[in-house]
This record gives sequence, C-alpha cells and structure tokens, in this order.
Amino acid sequence: MKLENLGEFGLIDRISEKVSNGKGVITGIGDDAAVTELSPGMQLLTSTDMLLEDIHFRLKWHDPYRLGRKSLAVSISDIAAMGGIPRWALLSLAIPKDYPLEDLDAFTNGFLSMAAEYGVSLIGGDTCSSKSGLVISVTIMGEQLPQFVVRRDGARPGDEIWVTGTLGDAAFGLELLENNKLPRPLGEGWGEGGVDYIISRLLDPTPQTTAGRVLAESGLVSAMIDISDGILSDFEHIADLSGVGGIIHLNALPYSESFRTMAEKLPMFPFNMLLSGGEDYQLAFTAHAGNREKISNIMKKSGIPASPVGIVTSLPGVTVLRPDGTPYLLQKHGFNHFK
Ligand code: ADP
Ligand code: MG
Repeated sequence: MKLENLGEFGLIDRISEKVSNGKGVITGIGDDAAVTELSPGMQLLTSTDMLLEDIHFRLKWHDPYRLGRKSLAVSISDIAAMGGIPRWALLSLAIPKDYPLEDLDAFTNGFLSMAAEYGVSLIGGDTCSSKSGLVISVTIMGEQLPQFVVRRDGARPGDEIWVTGTLGDAAFGLELLENNKLPRPLGEGWGEGGVDYIISRLLDPTPQTTAGRVLAESGLVSAMIDISDGILSDFEHIADLSGVGGIIHLNALPYSESFRTMAEKLPMFPFNMLLSGGEDYQLAFTAHAGNREKISNIMKKSGIPASPVGIVTSLPGVTVLRPDGTPYLLQKHGFNHFK
C-alpha cells in the first residue's frame, strides 16, 4: 500500500483508528470541529509549533517514530512551561507524495505514544500533500487554574534563576550527528560513553510537565519558560518581559555524566553548549531567594533535579560570570530563524 492509493481520507482514517478519546473530549476526530470540555474553574492554554524538514529535523537522522514523539513533545513542553496540564492536540501534516506509508505509520505511533504518556488526546488536524519536504504542525491545548498559571513576566530583582535537569545534551547530540555519528537504530542499546544517550536527548526529548506543574502549584515561582534555544536566550525572554536583567554563574550550570564524558574528549569544555545549545526542553524559572530550601525539597520529593544557576538583577542585560567573577563572553546566542 502506498500513500497515493490511500488518499487523504484513507490516511485520516488510518490515524483516527489508533486514537482513543481521553478526558474532556466530547467529539474527537471526524467532525468539522472537535468539542472539548475544560475541567471546572480551569483556563485554556493554547500553543502551536511547526517542524519543517531540513530546518527543524533531518530525516537522515530522525527515525519517524521518534520524530512523531518529538513533534508532540515540543508542544507539551510549552504547556509545562506555563505550569499547565496538557490535554488535547491537533496534528496537521503536509506530506511529500512519495513518503513511505510505513514511515507515516511509525510517525503516528510515535506521536500517539507520547500522547498516551502525557495524557493528551489527538482531537483533529489537517492533512495535505507537500511539494517541499515534510511539514508538521502541532497545536496543543492544556488547562490550569488561573492562580497557578506561571508567565514569563513575573521575575523580580533578587529572585534566583533555576533550571531543571541538565543542559547541553541536545546540543552535543546535534554536534555528534553533524559529525556523522549516526544514531543507531532503535532498540540496539546504548553506545559507549553515552553517545546514544546524548543523541536521544536531541531526537526524543522529555517534556517537563511534572516539574512545571509541581512548581506552579507550589506558588513559589515568579516566572517560567521552557529552554528551547539555550538558557541564555530563553532567560533573556523572561528578563525582557519582566523588565529585569540577570547574572548566570558559569560553574553552576548543570550537565549530565554523559555530557562530561564527551566533553573531556574536546580540547575545550563546551560551555557554549550549556549556555546556548538548543532543544533541551528543560524549564528555567525564577523564585524569591527565600524559597530556595522549599523548592529544593519539593523537587527532591518529586524526583526532579533542579539547580540554582544565577540571580535576577534590576539592571537590564544578562551577564555570565566565571568562578573568578570575570565575565564570560559568548559569541553565539540561541537559534534565531531569520538571522
Ligand atoms: P475539513 O475539510 O472540514 O477541514 P478534513 O477533511 O480536513 O475536514 O478533516 C476531517 C477530520 O479529520 C477532521 O475532524 C479533522 O480534524 C481530522 N483530521 C484531518 N487530518 C488529521 C490529522 N493529520 N490528524 C488527526 N486528525 C485529522
Ligand atoms: Mg481540513
């Protein structure tokens, strides 16, 4: 069977057959519009993302299953960054006519596996053919009580800057792929020194919904963002919207054991990857310095690593400091499409 024979509606059926309607779905795929119901008292959070072949992903590197997972993961991450609970997704696809049907099935299976893990229902989308590569657009909806929604604009001078998990893994993964360390097929186990782990952080990121929600519902957090373009660039978004600046301590940036092992093989420690490597999808947040103990405790209880990495200042601009107090100058900031 080929995509050509299946046609648009055959493909939509093929996707919808695998979907089961979860919480709050009154009418799912198949009608002109989906009908959903928010939980009592909750507000709707909505976000959309596009992934374009050869701009956001390369089919040479990205197996379709993990591409499907990542397509939804990056959107779930946006809901996590608001402290929300992900609920419903729309999936729009523009597909080249010769794209293999089995890859499309793997993509759908990956997308739906991510959906199931995070309690998200696929409730609709759009399907068309593409003359220039695979185009994926995902819209996600989530919910949260109004008092718990965390925005980018609440950081105050004196707050501490935190990050969850570790930074730079995805950037190191990209570096490895660009140097032709091709990912090994799924299920073949981890490579030496964490190569596969590092690459999987790029190809199959984990959205931080539990962290986002626990932090939001604790009421201890003043601003939050997901780190898609590197902590430096993403904290700048918090700083801009909050009307503040910040200092980030180079030696406080957390990295994984695999990152360290890889980094030791390089002539210089790749601090640039920790600061401005994209696609980690960890969370950066700010909180009153007096909340440090409490935040450490709730994160420990939830089993989520989190580290304070800097301080919010009233002076605008974001500075990175070395352990000796001198500024660390970085050429490249986060990824920016039209630059
Ligand atoms: P319309 O012409 O009204 O836009 P479509 O024929 O595009 O309707 O879609 C029919 C149904 O299938 C709709 O409910 C739509 O949301 C759903 N749908 C279309 N493409 C996808 C997709 N890629 N994934 C999930 N649902 C889809
Ligand atoms: Mg349509």
